[in-house]
Amino acid sequence: GHSKFDKDKGVNVQVLVRCRPLSEDEARLNTPIVISCNEGRREVSAVQNIANKQIDRTFAFDKVFGPNSKQKELYEQAVSPIVNEVLEGYNCTIFAYGQTGTGKTYTMEGGARKKNGEFPSDAGVIPRAVKQIFDILEAQNAEYSMKVTFLELYNEEITDLLAPEETLKFVDDKSKKPIALMEDGKGGVFVRGLEEEVVCTANEIYKILEKGSAKRRTAETLLNKQSSRSHSIFSITIHIKECTPEGEEMIKCGKLNLVDLAGSENISRSGAREGRAREAGEINKSLLTLGRVINALVEHSGHVPYRDSKLTRLLRDSLGGKTKTCIVATISPSIHCLDETLSTLDYAHRAK
Ligand code: ADP
Ligand code: MG
Repeated sequence: GHSKFDKDKGVNVQVLVRCRPLSEDEARLNTPIVISCNEGRREVSAVQNIANKQIDRTFAFDKVFGPNSKQKELYEQAVSPIVNEVLEGYNCTIFAYGQTGTGKTYTMEGGARKKNGEFPSDAGVIPRAVKQIFDILEAQNAEYSMKVTFLELYNEEITDLLAPEETLKFVDDKSKKPIALMEDGKGGVFVRGLEEEVVCTANEIYKILEKGSAKRRTAETLLNKQSSRSHSIFSITIHIKECTPEGEEMIKCGKLNLVDLAGSENISRSGAREGRAREAGEINKSLLTLGRVINALVEHSGHVPYRDSKLTRLLRDSLGGKTKTCIVATISPSIHCLDETLSTLDYAHRAK
């Protein structure tokens, strides 16, 4: 195959598209479907035949998941190999990119855990990745340590979703120091004041996820935010102790970033709207810079503009070089979303 995952090519960006089914409401209203997915050919087609608007475009990707695809399939085919790489000591990132309402959060988080802690079949990428990581580490009887961070980027400002409740309301208060992104002097960055929670079991991570997601909702109300305009980054860092055949001790370190991006409609539409202009500009900055960074990595062009947005600065150690990146572009099949769907497919295709 010609997957961007080929190690010899040194290009490690995989782009896949997932189309959600029509919602119940859309189905009841007989909303016309304008998207067809050919999983075997790995193609997505957008077709619309209205007298004054003829559209017929086909895009190819590394993988395509149609409206009937299950969470488990997407996980096993696209994410599970990446988690294995993390455990081999690589930094990897999985992005969900797409218009609001197309399934980014469904894909990343999915349905909540059941009361007995069991996995529902609609559990998303994050809980499945956590489970795989612990299952493998336990099977290997490995000696390891693990920590997680969970933050939100809104308007180029960072909110720590794991911070104690009281600090939350001061994040936007200019009299208090906001959480700051600092250079570490070695070409990397760190976030000053960010909570890192040490975790020992999968259950602890699920609880942290729930806590962070709840905080995301609180922050929304408190700071009058709209979640469709924020990026959230959930990161798991793992140190694994290993012995070389010579009996030397070695620490392998891998990191997995799981990123639920701001709604991509913010790129195309909101730019001109007054009042929201700055905010839209900042959202554009991160999403557009991410596109340019991935493009530069795929094209092997010399300059990679990591520094142009906070999102790409934050993820710098996990984009490019010996890392793996997977972009899940989510789309709706509905005729009413066609313009946004085409711009999502264009963006995702450029990242290939
Ligand atoms: P986003 O995070 O992109 O704004 P959501 O993940 O909140 O979108 O999805 C919007 C709605 O569509 C939710 O009710 C979600 O459960 C549903 N949905 C999204 N993707 C799928 C899918 N692949 N299968 C079934 N339902 C989905
Ligand atoms: Mg969402």
